[in-house]
Amino acid sequence: MPLNVKTRRKRGIRMAVTLLSGLLPVLLGLAILYMQAERALKQSTEQTAEEAIRQFELMLDNTAQAARELLPLAGQNCNDVKLALREQVTRRPFVRSTNLLWDNTIYCSSLFGDVQEASVSGDYSKGALLLMKGNPVTPDTALLVYRLSKEKQGAMSTLDGYHLTNVLRLIGRKTVLLLQVGPHWLSADGKFHEGAVPAFAVAQTRLESSRYAFSVAAGFPEGETWRFMSSEYPPLFSLLIFFGVISGVIGHFVQKRSSAPSNEMRRALEAAEFIPYFQPVVHGDNKKWSGAEVLMRWNHPKEGLVRPELFIPFAEHSGLIVPMTRSLMQQTAEWLAPVSSSFEGAFHIGINITASHCKDLELVEDCRQFLAAFEPGAVSLVLELTERELIEPTTITHQLFEQLHALGVMIAIDDFGTGHSSLGYLRQFNVDFLKIDQSFVAMIGVDALSRHILDTIIELSAKLDLGIVAEGVETTEQSDYLTARGVNFLQGYLFGRPMPGADFINALSHH
Ligand code: C2E
Ligand code: CA
Ligand code: CA
Repeated sequence: MPLNVKTRRKRGIRMAVTLLSGLLPVLLGLAILYMQAERALKQSTEQTAEEAIRQFELMLDNTAQAARELLPLAGQNCNDVKLALREQVTRRPFVRSTNLLWDNTIYCSSLFGDVQEASVSGDYSKGALLLMKGNPVTPDTALLVYRLSKEKQGAMSTLDGYHLTNVLRLIGRKTVLLLQVGPHWLSADGKFHEGAVPAFAVAQTRLESSRYAFSVAAGFPEGETWRFMSSEYPPLFSLLIFFGVISGVIGHFVQKRSSAPSNEMRRALEAAEFIPYFQPVVHGDNKKWSGAEVLMRWNHPKEGLVRPELFIPFAEHSGLIVPMTRSLMQQTAEWLAPVSSSFEGAFHIGINITASHCKDLELVEDCRQFLAAFEPGAVSLVLELTERELIEPTTITHQLFEQLHALGVMIAIDDFGTGHSSLGYLRQFNVDFLKIDQSFVAMIGVDALSRHILDTIIELSAKLDLGIVAEGVETTEQSDYLTARGVNFLQGYLFGRPMPGADFINALSHH
């Protein structure tokens, strides 16, 4: 069934929207947290790199100081200066060995005394710093060599890779830290590498020392952002889920509200589900059909025929009653115009109008269009305004009623006797008919007081020269009573129930 498919699809869409409105804040929050985490990690690697630079510079300061003090000794006999070399090693922290050079040749070492080894300054980064894999004494421990030269004189001091590795490990506890000197670099596991420094997937930072020829690279491996989030943000995650649930629930209810009665009625209006039923109104004397009251029905696809009491209040509340009444008038004209030639005299067509329809002059145009569908004089349009919701007299309403009367449209006060309209009110709006409420008619022969009110209304309408219609006439006793008192028009199940257009036209031809 198409209706089922449609509602199932609608339910699917509604569920998807609920899910989406729940997920959206969660996803958005996650994105913000992700960016926040990336920023925090970047900040952390920057701080770590700065701290590492500071530590390495501090070590190199000691190393450089040793070289500076030894430089003037370069050129002297190794035996004479050997002790001075060893003194620097013992006095200066981090310094592992010292050497003297003459003309790019190491000739004296704190470890071995006299040596003979070429050392080209071009191997050194900026002529001053060289990271080595090891030396013959400790081939597996990296060394950082600091070299100072002045003409043919040269002094060197070496820093043990153990200290460097310690700094890399201790400072970059969570961060991966690397020390780079020229084409060589050292990782926290103490390994010496050659070539380009690997790129980090997360929060990559590179910092160069402003004082020595080395740089530090810091960063995190792939997936660190999520790891960081899952360790730092669990309370925020719970908050996100909380907001997600709240937002999902709100989304659900907003949708539910949008599928409220007024929306269902808007759909029904577009689907032309509001249709007119016609109930005959007869002449009091000869009981011939003098017209009909148009009563709205909702031809609901699932609920069947719905009576107006159940939906008119919603229609009034949502303002849909105006387009609904307009549609009802159009349909009425479509039903009755083709048979209007068979009418004997002006056929009365009663349309129920709510007070909200009288707020502007739109109603005049609606009536004009309705009347234009008929031959002039074929019908007489009667607008039924219930006495229970009286229209407030304003300039607009006065204009409205003047223009309606000018069009030949008549006004009836519906449910008369149940409200409290005054004589002044009846005069002010130039009322043409009173419709006695069926509750009074039902009391004929039952309740003396109600009958008394009924008699008074009939007398009053005669004095005011108003036409009078009695509704809800179900028995001949009621009919006879009203006819005896000169009530002009009668309406009720005794003469005909409200019926669909086709039935009404069919029945009309028999009257
Ligand atoms: P109403 O204007 O007083 O309409 C008369 C009501 O009495 C109708 O009920 C009609 O079916 C019912 N009725 C007619 N003869 C008898 C009878 O002999 N005995 C009994 N017991 N009832 C009878 P319905 O059609 O259910 O309409 C109820 C109310 O809904 C109407 O009362 C009117 O106030 C409102 N209504 C109906 N159609 C429209 C419409 O198009 N626009 C507006 N604004 N209101 C409408
Ligand atoms: Ca009515
Ligand atoms: Ca009534």
